[in-house]
Amino acid sequence: MDSYRRAYAKVDLDAIKHNLTVTKKALKENMKLAAIVKADGYGHGSVPVSLYIKDIVDFFCVATLEEGVNLRYHGITNPILILACIPRNSYKESIVFDIRESVFTLDQAKKINDEAGELGKKISIHIAIDTGMNRIGFKPTKESADIIKEISEMENIDIEGIFTHFHSADESDLTSAKEQESLFRQFLDLLKSMGIKPAIVHASNSAAIVNGIGTDFDMVRLGITMYGVAPSNEVNLTNFNYKPALSIYSTITYIKRIKAGESVSYGATFKAEKDMDIATISFGYADGYPRDLSNKGYVLINGVKCNLIGRICMDQTIVDVSDVPNVNIGDMVVILGKSAGNSITVDELTKDSNTFSYEFICGINKRVPRLYY
Ligand code: PLP
Repeated sequence: MDSYRRAYAKVDLDAIKHNLTVTKKALKENMKLAAIVKADGYGHGSVPVSLYIKDIVDFFCVATLEEGVNLRYHGITNPILILACIPRNSYKESIVFDIRESVFTLDQAKKINDEAGELGKKISIHIAIDTGMNRIGFKPTKESADIIKEISEMENIDIEGIFTHFHSADESDLTSAKEQESLFRQFLDLLKSMGIKPAIVHASNSAAIVNGIGTDFDMVRLGITMYGVAPSNEVNLTNFNYKPALSIYSTITYIKRIKAGESVSYGATFKAEKDMDIATISFGYADGYPRDLSNKGYVLINGVKCNLIGRICMDQTIVDVSDVPNVNIGDMVVILGKSAGNSITVDELTKDSNTFSYEFICGINKRVPRLYY
């Protein structure tokens, strides 16, 4: 099945299930799990991933209305929360599909309330609190608390949840994350004193979960670690036996020997210092290979690490195969994953580049078929 494909990705759905189970075990009993499946499930395929894990997670989080509606069309009935802003004229659709919005202005709440009223529905929302990210959310002030009080009295709205988001929970210095957590707690206390106590309080992303920040609230939002990728090199995952779910493969389409002094690929950014064997592989930046990995990245061929040489092209890339014994056209190339006892992880591959793991996995293009097993 695999051999006629120029390139493909494999998604290990059981690895994703395993990563969720490992996380759940590390958390307090009854902690709700929100699986982040925005950006097509971080490139893994939001529909197959969500269908596979729907019974072991409580919520799904997306970034756009379309992502949420797509899950509904594919039979997902779990609560879905949009973590970003959607256009004002699409509030009605989100209500129809029972998709929760993150609310952070009075105007937004009023419009949702009006639209829900017209549809004869009561809609759940989550209030976003900005404790330092400065992206979306109410500032944790008395004025905001008064507005949230007003929202809580709206007839067609139920404030089901309230959340904040950490900007630096993936760094070794956790001071700012702890400060954000404390600001959030103080604000929750203020709301409580005003009679507002949303049922689901949530704050932790993957890094905060691993670092135990915000893990005594009601729900955690798990993104990158669900896919078995580290939030950053500064997060210590030794207590969490996460397994990478994504591996990517291509093939060698051409092999040749070049002489010392010859250059390789556009712009001639690589010049051979000695005679060498090179191979062309079927994977380029239009597949999602970040061009910044030109002359920096590597692949595995028959277990041997082979450097990318010259600029990554749109559909093809050239690699140094001088150290690979018995290399042949048609041999499998591992872009991410394991080969004969060696492996390439996205964290390692992107470490010294201007891209990073999240961007790499979200950026793998649609033309790279995903195979599920
Ligand atoms: N919560 C919010 C609001 C987010 O924007 C994201 C991701 O961007 C997450 C949670 C998940 O983050 P991570 O993938 O680091 O777990």
